[in-house]
Amino acid sequence: MNADLVVVGSGFYGLTIAERCAVEHGIKVLVVDRRPHIGGNAFSERERTTGIEVHRYGAHLFHTSNERVWDYVNRFTAFTSYVHHVYTTYRGEVYPMPINLGTVNQFFRSAYTPDEARALVAEQSTEISGHEVSNLEEKGISLIGRPLYEAFIRGYTAKQWQTDPKDLPAEIISRLPVRYTYDNRYFNDTYEGLPRDGYTAWLERMADHPNIEVRLDTDFFDSSQPINSRDVVGQVPVVYTGPVDRYFEYAEGELSWRTLDFTEEVLDVGDYQGTSVMNYADEDVPYTRIHEFRHFHPERDYPTDRTVIMREYSRFATREDEPYYPVNTPEDRARLLAYRDLAKGEDGVLFGGRLGTYKYLDMHMAIGSALSAFDNKLTPFLRGSQK
Ligand code: FAD
Repeated sequence: MNADLVVVGSGFYGLTIAERCAVEHGIKVLVVDRRPHIGGNAFSERERTTGIEVHRYGAHLFHTSNERVWDYVNRFTAFTSYVHHVYTTYRGEVYPMPINLGTVNQFFRSAYTPDEARALVAEQSTEISGHEVSNLEEKGISLIGRPLYEAFIRGYTAKQWQTDPKDLPAEIISRLPVRYTYDNRYFNDTYEGLPRDGYTAWLERMADHPNIEVRLDTDFFDSSQPINSRDVVGQVPVVYTGPVDRYFEYAEGELSWRTLDFTEEVLDVGDYQGTSVMNYADEDVPYTRIHEFRHFHPERDYPTDRTVIMREYSRFATREDEPYYPVNTPEDRARLLAYRDLAKGEDGVLFGGRLGTYKYLDMHMAIGSALSAFDNKLTPFLRGSQK
């Protein structure tokens, strides 16, 4: 094998490591991914009949306040001026999200000032005081009061977790921010936008270096193919961004994840919902949200008589499913500690990324964490002096 470093996983974490090592250290990097495409969960492609760019693993919005990450990502792509907004449908009415003064006034059929709205929510939150909360429902009510909780949080959360919020631990939510202004911009970061030519073009540019080779359809644990864990670990340094429990053959038990199912439809209408993401708060609507991808790129010349929508459903993952969001139960946290110990003892392998660390990471966090790992760990790691 003609490589100085093997990176398992071609998501943002793996590609950032590969790009930095290829450019800064001039070493040969082999990136393997078990999927048939590059880019991990950020992968997008044009829907065949309409040309509309679809984010295959759910809507991906880029945002960051990290100057270093912003400078870095701009080497590979320009960004559009897209600013994300989310709406939610509840009992046949559409409200702006996150909960803000517009949501509160629409919901209570009022014209409260910021102070009046703040006082109302504070008063409604006293039904359950903070120290008594024993489940997610009580926590939600203690944060924003029962009426807003029951409308906007209860049904949506029950669908996300396929569990009654009364049976979910309170720690799942630490805050439920209410904005006492009409600002319904979804993210607060300094920089926000979508890659002008799409995510896949951006990801391909990161891998476009003579020192980087990407091999797709290559599962690192499939010993019938040449780049596999048995033959590579110990021979060549490895950066592993797949699931940490899978690496150790689930020796400490399985870490639990939530997964998502998506159903895509091409519709013969120019615009289905007038916005990119519509949440559905009612529990009797089985999906959590509908994405309509044309709205992510209003600057593009998409067909005016057809559109692509994707309904999103949430459930607990089995070992065969794509792991999306860590569930993070107390048992998971104990297992993770055990896996971290195993990882420390695994010479020649660095674990990173959202699956390798069992941590939800936004794209900018995955990239930022890879840049820090490159600075602080990769150079000594490649010299074999320390992990
Ligand atoms: P991944 O992108 O998951 O890449 C890991 C790669 O490893 C995968 O390609 C996988 O196939 C590969 N792999 C795993 N096991 C093996 C193996 N055995 N052999 C070979 N390859 C293997 N972030 C945002 O900033 N904004 C958003 O709006 C946003 N929306 C999201 C929506 C959803 C539904 C999800 C799940 C995530 C979202 N994210 C968002 C987060 C974003 O997807 C992650 O930050 C990013 O995927 C992290 O990159 P990564 O490289 O760590 O992991």
